[in-house]
Amino acid sequence: MHHGAVAAQPDRAARLRAVVARDGDTCIWCGRPFAGLIPPTTEHVVPRLKGGPSWLENEVAACHRCNSERGHRGPVEWLEECLRRGWKPDEERLARSLTSLAAAIAREGGQRRARPYLDAQLRRLRRRGRSFAA
Ligand SMILES: [Zn+2]
Repeated sequence: MHHGAVAAQPDRAARLRAVVARDGDTCIWCGRPFAGLIPPTTEHVVPRLKGGPSWLENEVAACHRCNSERGHRGPVEWLEECLRRGWKPDEERLARSLTSLAAAIAREGGQRRARPYLDAQLRRLRRRGRSFAA
C-alpha cells in the first residue's frame, strides 16, 4: 500500500497506544472503559475494505465485541445501531475522527476509494443535526 507523502506510520501496537492516549481509554461504540476483560482493539473508521488507510486519523479504539459486531457497517450506521441498543457511543469522537481523516486526505492526496465513502459518512453525520465545532 502506498502512503504517499505520509511519514512512516508506527506499528500496530504503537498506533493503538497512540489512539488510546489521544481519545481516552473507552470504547468509541459502547463507552465501556478498557480493562483486563475488555481490551482495546484498533478499529478502522473507514473500513480497509472500503479503501480506508491505516493512518492514525482513520483509527479509533473499540472493544472486541463492538469491533466484531460492527462488521462492514458504516461508522454512522453502526453509531445509530449502538444508540438503538442503549449503548453510549461517542459521537463527538467519531465526528473528530471523520473530519481529521478528511483533512489528512486533503493534505496527503490519494485515497480515491476512501473519499466518496468518507464524504457520505460525513453528510450522514451532519444530517443527524449536531454541530461539530472542533
Ligand atoms: Zn464496545
